[in-house]
Amino acid sequence: RLVAPAPVKEELISHDHALRPKSLAEYVGQEQLCKSLDIFIRAAKARGEALDHVLFHGYPGLGKTTLSHIIANEMGAGIKMTSGPVIERQGDLAAILTSLQEGDVLFIDEIHRLNHAVEEILYPAMEDFQLDLIIGQGPGARSVKMDLPRFTLVGATTRTGLLTPPLRDRFGVILRLELYEPEELVRIILRSASILGMRVDANGALELGRRSRGTPRIANRLLRRVRDFAEVGKHATVTAKVADEALELLNVDRFGLDDMDRRIMLSIIDKFQGGPIGLETLATVVCEEKNTLEDVYEPFLIQSGFLARTPRGRMATMNAYEHFGRPLPNSMKR
Ligand code: ADP
Repeated sequence: RLVAPAPVKEELISHDHALRPKSLAEYVGQEQLCKSLDIFIRAAKARGEALDHVLFHGYPGLGKTTLSHIIANEMGAGIKMTSGPVIERQGDLAAILTSLQEGDVLFIDEIHRLNHAVEEILYPAMEDFQLDLIIGQGPGARSVKMDLPRFTLVGATTRTGLLTPPLRDRFGVILRLELYEPEELVRIILRSASILGMRVDANGALELGRRSRGTPRIANRLLRRVRDFAEVGKHATVTAKVADEALELLNVDRFGLDDMDRRIMLSIIDKFQGGPIGLETLATVVCEEKNTLEDVYEPFLIQSGFLARTPRGRMATMNAYEHFGRPLPNSMKR
């Protein structure tokens, strides 16, 4: 899916690193968050201490991994990266923790997916920089205690509510990333274009920015697809027209909606008279997982004013009827 917020293979292996801002000064948007982070980093550096543990929460593709690298850079520290589902056993986490240097950043993506046994090792590690491990089973089992270097854990998750309270409470700093405004995405697109050696004019960038669903990862991805289109069509500069033609061809409409979004909205409008419809029913109708629907598709549909989340379920808004060319139901007519 072209407008999926999760990384695709090519982004995991190649270009993405080049496009990542390396310092807070280079980072576009999330101003409040960056201001707070800047103060915490400066204070920790002035005291000569490791930064407090930080939890970032926000939808995929908004910059959580990028910020964890920035923290390490700004602190002049090393960084180790892993993710919740990858750490299966206590020993896996112990191996990572004991390989850290003083002041290092340990980034755990999808930290809400750590299993319970692993999470228990993390508590004393975060709180007292102690590794507390039971080795073996039965009468031969013994407890091993070890001091760990003072490190900074940076966790990333989509929603803080997914974390267990004891884990959440051990983070000194909890910061939320918001969807980006089109103007911020324009700045990100122009920056990425210059790194990629592409010519994109202001209107071309705005067209891309409006259709990137508030998400830098999608903005960069659309930019690369539009580059292919521009190269093949021998367009020297990406203008609004070039961007529009490319994105039409790629089935991304002028709001950044694709086929799946259309399917979701048209199911609510055509099959359920505009709702309200429960999340479970909606998930079944569009053949998608409930969580994916909630974390990946809904946020942008809600932010764009097409979908409303009410206590009785999901509803299509007046905007949705207009955008998808359906006649307004009587209840919405003034
Ligand atoms: P997450 O970890 O939240 O899924 P990432 O940090 O991997 O998101 O960001 C996805 C991509 O978007 C990165 O490759 C980076 O190039 C880009 N990006 C994210 N935030 C910004 C930003 N504020 N300015 C410029 N590029 C950004």
